[in-house]
Amino acid sequence: MSAWTERAVTVLDAIEQAGRTRELRALRVLDGRTALRNGRVVLLCASNNYLGLAQHPRVRAAAQEALETHGLGSTGSRMTTGHSALHEELEIALAKHRGTEAALLFNTGYMANLAVMTTFVREGDVIFSDELNHASLIDGCRMSRARVVIYRHGDANDLEEKLRATPVSGLRIIVTDGVFSMDGNLAPLADLVRLKRAWDTLLIVDDAHATGVLGPRGEGTAAHFGLAAHEIDLHVGTLSKALGSEGGYVAGAQTLIAWLRQAARPFMFSTALSPLVIAGAHAALQIATDEGERRARVHSRARELRMALQARGFAASQGITPIIPVHIGDTGAALALSAHLDQMGIFAPAIRPPSVPVGTSRIRLTVTADHTCEDVETVANAFASFASR
Ligand code: PMP
Repeated sequence: MSAWTERAVTVLDAIEQAGRTRELRALRVLDGRTALRNGRVVLLCASNNYLGLAQHPRVRAAAQEALETHGLGSTGSRMTTGHSALHEELEIALAKHRGTEAALLFNTGYMANLAVMTTFVREGDVIFSDELNHASLIDGCRMSRARVVIYRHGDANDLEEKLRATPVSGLRIIVTDGVFSMDGNLAPLADLVRLKRAWDTLLIVDDAHATGVLGPRGEGTAAHFGLAAHEIDLHVGTLSKALGSEGGYVAGAQTLIAWLRQAARPFMFSTALSPLVIAGAHAALQIATDEGERRARVHSRARELRMALQARGFAASQGITPIIPVHIGDTGAALALSAHLDQMGIFAPAIRPPSVPVGTSRIRLTVTADHTCEDVETVANAFASFASR
């Protein structure tokens, strides 16, 4: 066995021993509520397709048209041959939707976060980061070469103490998820804006799960709290969740976006998003903005499912987002519950370390605008049947 094979086997064994081996399960997603799995239709309760737009006829048609007119790939980085009018139009539309001066597309939300953390931040700066921030922000912090100070989850008092206690030779940055991906709760944005002003920090909000979902027209977490868009320096968003497509973006003031365009390595050194993905996302953005009833539906379903689970004795989190974690704690128990749901025709994987802290394994349920009231009952009853088995 070569030294490299030996190392690979050792690592894989360790993952196995720790019970962290992941198995990929192939699905064909049919809409916001169902998918085909092993030839049978299952109720999908884990996707981020919150508005059901990934399969919307107008989204498909826009993507198909772009495929016909532009072909499949973008053929190069935005700096070379990959830039098109479609990219530019979507950036203008995203900035308008967010209420910012400008926006810039990235190939994924993950890359958008890496770009923000590595472009603006320098050695000598200090990043103040919520302890439950998304992995892409954590990786961006690591790559930034700045000192990182972690504050307690959602705790503005702890952040304030840490701002006060931390000497800084360069500049300060506060970074947080707007909606936390595994818990579905919101950052205390009004407090963070107050601290940002008091300490003259850059405030970065990753709004991946709020785009299209929160705010009167799906503008995101700031709009939900009635905060003006410019109070947040950089809004990171994704096209891959409520907008049903792929890609990420950063929205903010012209100067900051111009800096990203000139210097962000994930922007410069990667092939631009496919025109069909861009056209689909643009159509989805229009629907998400205009069709408030989709947003109203997803919020109703979320409320109903929280209540139905709580009524059956499950620790479904409080909150207002379509992300509803049911906390189990032990990984084995969470996996057993997920397997039970699978048997009942419900797809809802267990979320376990390293995606969440040790001892906090859970079923992360999500609802979409396509789910029905009957679906909510089906899911809640499946949980109840696990408890009484
Ligand atoms: N930020 C958060 C909070 C996320 O949940 C995700 C996706 N899981 C991302 C960023 C990355 O977005 P994308 O999937 O578009 O790379």
